[in-house]
Amino acid sequence: MLKKIVIVICAVSLSFAYDLKPVKISDSVYQFLGKTEQPSKDNGGNMVNTYWIKTAKSYIVVDSGPSYQYAKDAHKAMKKIADLPIKYVINTHLHDDHWLGNNYYKELGATLYGTKAQAKKFPVGSEAHMLSVIKPEDAAGTKVIALDQFIDKNSSITVDNKKIEFIHFDYAVHTPEDIMVYLPSEKILIAGDILFSQRITSIRDGSVEGGLKSLDDVEKMNVKVYATGHGKFTDKTAIKQMRDYFTALKMNARKAIEDGVDIDTFVKTADFSAFKNMAMMQVLHKSNLGFAYTEYEFFEGK
Ligand SMILES: [Zn+2]
Repeated sequence: MLKKIVIVICAVSLSFAYDLKPVKISDSVYQFLGKTEQPSKDNGGNMVNTYWIKTAKSYIVVDSGPSYQYAKDAHKAMKKIADLPIKYVINTHLHDDHWLGNNYYKELGATLYGTKAQAKKFPVGSEAHMLSVIKPEDAAGTKVIALDQFIDKNSSITVDNKKIEFIHFDYAVHTPEDIMVYLPSEKILIAGDILFSQRITSIRDGSVEGGLKSLDDVEKMNVKVYATGHGKFTDKTAIKQMRDYFTALKMNARKAIEDGVDIDTFVKTADFSAFKNMAMMQVLHKSNLGFAYTEYEFFEGK
């Protein structure tokens, strides 16, 4: 009898790998909130926020998450709210925690939108690092497939009378090419990794200057709800946290360069104790310091 119960429990926990629960954050937008940590076997790569826009007759998904199984679980949860066809999937940028659920939605007939930078970095069938980090049962079924349409400038679509705007950055911010999604009718900005709260960002594929510039652009917009790529806050918290961190990277790197401090000493000694409570400091901060130093070494702006 006990053996039977154990087998049943194992089977249940395998088929509910992610246990995703949508949270309604505006009239038509639902959020799946990820953890503010690095991808691991324990979290299955569920360390990213993904979003569903519900129109009268369909769904639009913004970022498909870290795996096929994640996308399937998200869909299962959303079907309980309304069982509508998924028309479009938007990928905000090329980092693979944000779009490895694509092939699940493609099987259901969705059209996949994303950047050319993503298509270039991840040709069909290429390997995604995420899949070697998470458990095989969470990675099962995930494939890198082609995007159907590229977003390469500001543009919009209208689905069931709901206008959905795409904001395309023509300068490097978090990656060489990033997209945000904006719904003017409810003033919600799904910002992808332009905005993080609770945890620090990664500069690896982006730019501190681009990050600061993007915040200026975001602050000019009429936004009520800021839906971030990572972290739980939907008010202006993310804007402040991003600006404080980028500004500190810029000021400290420029001062070190001006004072003739070499990069290794800078990385070892820069005082960022004000940020010690932000998540992912241990994982990303030292390399961010290095990237910031390199960016400002030959910088000629203000
Ligand atoms: Zn991300």
